[in-house]
Amino acid sequence: MHRPLLPPLVSVAMLWSPGPLTAQRPPTFDVAPVAGIVSTVVLGTPDGNAYGANMVLAEGPAGAILVDTNLPAPPLTAFVVDQVNARTGVEGLRLVVVTHWHPDHSGGVSGFSGLAPVVAHARTVARLSEETQGVGLVTPESRFVAPPRAWNARPSLTVGDSSVFELGDERVHLMHVPGAHTDGDLVVWFESSGVAAVGDLVWPGLFPSIDAVNGGDARGLLAAVGELVDRLPPETVYVPGHGRPLTGSEVRTWLDALDAGVGDLTRRHAAGESLDQVIAGGLGPVDGLDWSMWGHAVVPESRWIELVWESLERERR
Ligand SMILES: [Zn+2]
Repeated sequence: MHRPLLPPLVSVAMLWSPGPLTAQRPPTFDVAPVAGIVSTVVLGTPDGNAYGANMVLAEGPAGAILVDTNLPAPPLTAFVVDQVNARTGVEGLRLVVVTHWHPDHSGGVSGFSGLAPVVAHARTVARLSEETQGVGLVTPESRFVAPPRAWNARPSLTVGDSSVFELGDERVHLMHVPGAHTDGDLVVWFESSGVAAVGDLVWPGLFPSIDAVNGGDARGLLAAVGELVDRLPPETVYVPGHGRPLTGSEVRTWLDALDAGVGDLTRRHAAGESLDQVIAGGLGPVDGLDWSMWGHAVVPESRWIELVWESLERERR
């Protein structure tokens, strides 16, 4: 049976708020091995949906690394910390990496700040340290304001463009990807295991979300992910922030489709069509693609067209 790329769980509410969490309805902590010492962790509701974003856990004899921390809700964070500690031992967690500032990835930092260093890119830490306006989800008007985080809810370490370290036999690379989903995205490449945790740089089978208010750029994301896939070994498995892990060729297929759509928009932009005309007409047909399957609650087709258009306008200015 064809396995859907993304289960039917994506709603803005699910991505951005934890929903009701009670003793009668505890979440599940589902750990699925990917390759080598790396697993994905999905927090699930009893009815099969997911809370927040995927987390990634690397567990080896030299300790563990957690990538991303799910949503900012004290009971949920306490649950995640307990579950991670139960697997790694309180002493075993060596590092927590936050891929970018969005609350469904960075929300649980406070729970880990006394347990292990929490690292993020400098732009991410800056965004969490000040009042930050959130991306327009669904429409450009649907923004939110995130207040500055308390010191213990912010990453304690920052990295610049790249950094490499060893966790026993595992070589771990933190790689900054500027101007993509946000301006502070980090990819965590577990070289020895052959897994790249890519946060929200890859959206399986869907239009990618772009935080254009905070340095994201639609075409920048496509270019950056293309470079990443070119650079990493072909057998690398990519774990996105939402949805199932993908092979490099699946990521490439996703990129090729989006590039074809961007090509159509680029031609129409150069020909002087207006944004309203383009949205009314929709993305041009691309062989074998049904764009109606690509829109979702966070980025419907009209929003993706706007995001690409903004990127084209920026280039023209
Ligand atoms: Zn995000």
